[in-house]
Amino acid sequence: MAGLHCSVSQVKCYLRCPRQYDLKYVRGVKPAFVPVALAFGTAIHAALASHYHAIQAASPRSFEELVTVFRDAWSNAASGPVPLQVEDDADCDVVDRGVAMLRAFHAQAPAAHVEVEDVERAFSVELHDPVSGEVIEERLVGAFDLVVREAGRAVVIEHKTAARKWTADQLRYDFQVTAYRFAARLLGLGDVGLRLQILTKTKLPAVHVEDIERDDHAEDDFLRTVMGVLRAIDAGAFYPVRGWQCKGCQVAHACVGGGP
Ligand code: SF4
Repeated sequence: MAGLHCSVSQVKCYLRCPRQYDLKYVRGVKPAFVPVALAFGTAIHAALASHYHAIQAASPRSFEELVTVFRDAWSNAASGPVPLQVEDDADCDVVDRGVAMLRAFHAQAPAAHVEVEDVERAFSVELHDPVSGEVIEERLVGAFDLVVREAGRAVVIEHKTAARKWTADQLRYDFQVTAYRFAARLLGLGDVGLRLQILTKTKLPAVHVEDIERDDHAEDDFLRTVMGVLRAIDAGAFYPVRGWQCKGCQVAHACVGGGP
């Protein structure tokens, strides 16, 4: 895997389309655009990070301050070197939607009694083959959006923006939180709680707080998935998977045989 490190988003990219993985991470093809949803999610994340940083500093932010952080981050994303993917949404609709989502978040998010331990904590931990136990060269890298402490226990929280509430299957099988459980243990945080805070882009935005359970079997599954992907990459298995993902593919212009 590129750079002897491996992130959850790289593994998910490979599972979505191995050719997309090859173009993005092996050949380094420049993206033709930034998906609006990605830039939007980044801007919302920036606002939430600022919210929790301020709580940590015992100086909670007002709703208006959060909106300012969001608008600035969105404006940076929209004026970057790579153009945003053209969508039906007009720019002001995207901003309006973000403001409405932040209003829902600010109204619901606890502030005073949250014990914030870390915001956007980057990590790099060793990976091992779950069958042989052998530690491999590639390391798992990522970042926890937020770590809080509740009743003496660390809780790792991931923020998501989504079109709608996650389904039971999404909550049950998403392996990003499993990866976080694995990483948190190696970092010495113990048996952490896992939580998603999902901000929906629905007409009436809402914040869905989901506490997630993962166990050792889920971690074993996650490691087997990672090992399978790494072996396939080593073997050069970069076949195309054409489908819904082609429409938003940032490297479709370099996909031999045509894009979507
Ligand atoms: S255009 Fe489709 S098949 Fe080609 S790399 Fe992108 S997602 Fe894969």
